[in-house]
Amino acid sequence: MTQHPIIRPQPGILDIAPYQGGESRLDGHEQVLKLSSNENPFGPSPKALAAYADAARSLHRYPDGNHAALRAAIAEIHGLDAGRIICGAGSDEIIAFLTQTYAGPGSEVIHTEHGFGMYRISALAAGATPVSVPEAERRTNVDAILAAANERTALVFIADPNNPTGTMIERAEIARLAESLPPRTLLVLDGAYAEYVPDFDGHASLVDARDNVVMTRTFSKIHGLGGLRVGWGYGPAHVIDAINRVRGPFNLGTPQLAAAEAAIGDTDYTAHCRAENARNRERLASGLAEIGVPSDPSEANFILARFGSVAEAEACDAALRRRGIIVRKVAGYNLPQALRITIGDAKAVERVIEAITDFVQVRA
Ligand SMILES: *Cc1c(COP(=O)(O)O)cnc(C)c1O
Repeated sequence: MTQHPIIRPQPGILDIAPYQGGESRLDGHEQVLKLSSNENPFGPSPKALAAYADAARSLHRYPDGNHAALRAAIAEIHGLDAGRIICGAGSDEIIAFLTQTYAGPGSEVIHTEHGFGMYRISALAAGATPVSVPEAERRTNVDAILAAANERTALVFIADPNNPTGTMIERAEIARLAESLPPRTLLVLDGAYAEYVPDFDGHASLVDARDNVVMTRTFSKIHGLGGLRVGWGYGPAHVIDAINRVRGPFNLGTPQLAAAEAAIGDTDYTAHCRAENARNRERLASGLAEIGVPSDPSEANFILARFGSVAEAEACDAALRRRGIIVRKVAGYNLPQALRITIGDAKAVERVIEAITDFVQVRA
């Protein structure tokens, strides 16, 4: 690390370990099968691609800083109040707005043991103290969160379904958490994978019912636009008003706004991706279970495959790499005996099952 003797960043900044994204390259392999970042194997809706191309004609114009058309489209599809939606450069930016606005030196930000890495990074970036709370068998434990929460707790981040576990929390438990948190604490429910769950609103109804709950969503997963960087949040008016003050007026460009609007409007395509994912996820989970590699029931577009030991998980990762398949090691999420595998298309799923079957047989 390079440090200057006098010119120093704010406290906390140098404690940040940079976010590790899923790898996409393997030496010696021209065509890798990338199953490390929970990307949609089918890509975005053709309508989103057309809108993106069309936006090229107006690149000399500043974008609509109010995001009015995109917010209206989101509101219509999800039955929400457009006035309480905020859009950002990925949900990462919404998470950053929330920590910047509500957390700072002296305050604490709770995330769960196996929770998404950006919560900790954003908390440190804001000068706050991240607090990791244990899970119970890879599931969010509301009592443990309540035990850790106090008058310094500014935010509690929970992803539902969670990444990298794929598990969900019962609705009544989330409602109990929202009800029981200290009065100054905001509960942030990250619904990056909400669209994969049939008939699930990502807890939008809880947001509507309370003044201390915010929901974040993304176009990076089911909408297949991870490279574009668009996410959004939905919350009570007092929160949306505050975080809009820290948002740069032109945080999203015209192609982002146009492509996201078209993507969310293509509900047939979204339904198609959801159905394909459910079918392929079932096949992958049962194919691996049959050869002795269990996973928790996942509601998302990945499964967390568990191995007998850390060495076993690492050896399987290496065996997959030799075949040009990249999955995600999750030791950094305190799950060193597991590998997170994104659900690819049907062919990709068969390739993974075959590779892990061979691995298991060689080790036996
Ligand atoms: C992938 C993911 C996101 C999405 O981040 P973007 O910045 O919108 O791409 C958010 N939360 C979780 C838990 C995720 O896994």
